[in-house]
Amino acid sequence: MPQTFDVCVIGGGIHGAGVAQAAALSGLSVALVEKSGWGAGTSSKSSKLIHGGLRYLQTFQFGLVRQSLRERRTLLTIADDIVKPNHFYLPIYKGGRFKPWQVRIGLVLYRLLAGRNNLGGFKKLPKSDWDQLEGLNSANLAAVFIYQDAQTDDKTLTQRVVASAKQHGATLFCPARFLTAEQQEDGYLVTIAQQLEHGSELTTIACRTLVNAGGPWINRIADTIEPKPPMINVDLVKGTHLQFAQQLSAKCFYLEAQSDHRAVFVLPYKGGTLVGTTETLFEGNPDGVSPSREEVDYLLEIMHHQFPHFNHNPINAWAGLRVLPANKKSPFKRSREVQFAETPNYIAIYGGKLTGYRATAEVVLKKIRKSMQQRAALAGSGNPTTALFQIVDSSKVKI
Ligand SMILES: Cc1cc2nc3c(=O)[nH]c(=O)nc-3n(C[C@H](O)[C@H](O)[C@H](O)COP(=O)(O)OP(=O)(O)OC[C@H]3O[C@@H](n4cnc5c(N)ncnc54)[C@H](O)[C@@H]3O)c2cc1C
Repeated sequence: MPQTFDVCVIGGGIHGAGVAQAAALSGLSVALVEKSGWGAGTSSKSSKLIHGGLRYLQTFQFGLVRQSLRERRTLLTIADDIVKPNHFYLPIYKGGRFKPWQVRIGLVLYRLLAGRNNLGGFKKLPKSDWDQLEGLNSANLAAVFIYQDAQTDDKTLTQRVVASAKQHGATLFCPARFLTAEQQEDGYLVTIAQQLEHGSELTTIACRTLVNAGGPWINRIADTIEPKPPMINVDLVKGTHLQFAQQLSAKCFYLEAQSDHRAVFVLPYKGGTLVGTTETLFEGNPDGVSPSREEVDYLLEIMHHQFPHFNHNPINAWAGLRVLPANKKSPFKRSREVQFAETPNYIAIYGGKLTGYRATAEVVLKKIRKSMQQRAALAGSGNPTTALFQIVDSSKVKI
């Protein structure tokens, strides 16, 4: 007989880890299946910001910004050794996309959405202090604001959440590739290929709810499920980062690229500097994603223009894939909100943010709970509430 779990989660990125942790905390039996390594996918290729996303105010995603700011506060508390506040310089140039007064309004709104005691303070840097800006190009500089957000290491954060899931009883399968799932009377029979020392071994597990947290692989995973579950039409949008050994600054810069007015971050990272990112439509297998020459040149050009004296070569470059709704809008204008495709026994998590993983996991748990309740009622098992579990609030659990 295959081992049976309440929930089987495919994908050990931040979303899979978050759902596994939340489910395990709430007393459900959970299997978490990851093919490569914890956080090996998108969850180690982000800009590593725990932020509300100041730029999403431009596209009126107020709900997302508010929720992310709330999550920022939680993560600064429950993971205070790996989620750290930092200052962000935001220079505004004449002829740029925004005027200083518009940015000021944005920052006021950001502060309001953050609520009290949540890194909301900002100020305009006096011109006399512009020499603190690490040699930032000051030609046509109109104003510089300074505000706060937080930084982390995305992979470490994911690994911490996985460890917490395990501590609360989740069973981990890694490296183990999900191969297929077949619908059963109440759930799925899942086949995985576990990588063992002497080769791989097929294992079958049963679960009542299957959670597809496959990030950019999500529809490839859905394609192998029988019968085919609902899928959302998405585009994969590549984002490249460059890493430099030399540290430009201990603070962060939020820049506007001169050529196309996109937002680009220059961040302190592992004693050096991280610069990113790009937005390029990607087709093909997510396993093969890598930075293109054009993307590297684009980021280098921004660095050369903004910090002419910083003439170092990057020591590393990598790319990750955003999962965004497929439409004709530019990638920047597409919603960053998480979306779900679901049936009573299946939930797939599309898109979302590293910052919001805990809130997303909570939504998934509520969906599982509701579906269990409906299934129990349909099966006529008397009082449906006997089948229910209490969702434990993970915002109080240190990771
Ligand atoms: C360039 C870029 C910058 C970003 N910057 C930020 C930021 O600064 N702040 C922020 O909050 N968010 C940011 N994001 C968003 C954030 O990184 C993602 O939302 C998040 O990491 C997605 O996590 P995930 O778990 O959904 O996907 P992933 O991390 O990709 O996890 C999916 C996992 O599924 C596994 N998998 C795939 N197929 C199988 C299979 N068959 N069997 C088993 N396992 C499988 C993969 O190996 C992978 O580990 C950024 C995203 C990008 C692309």
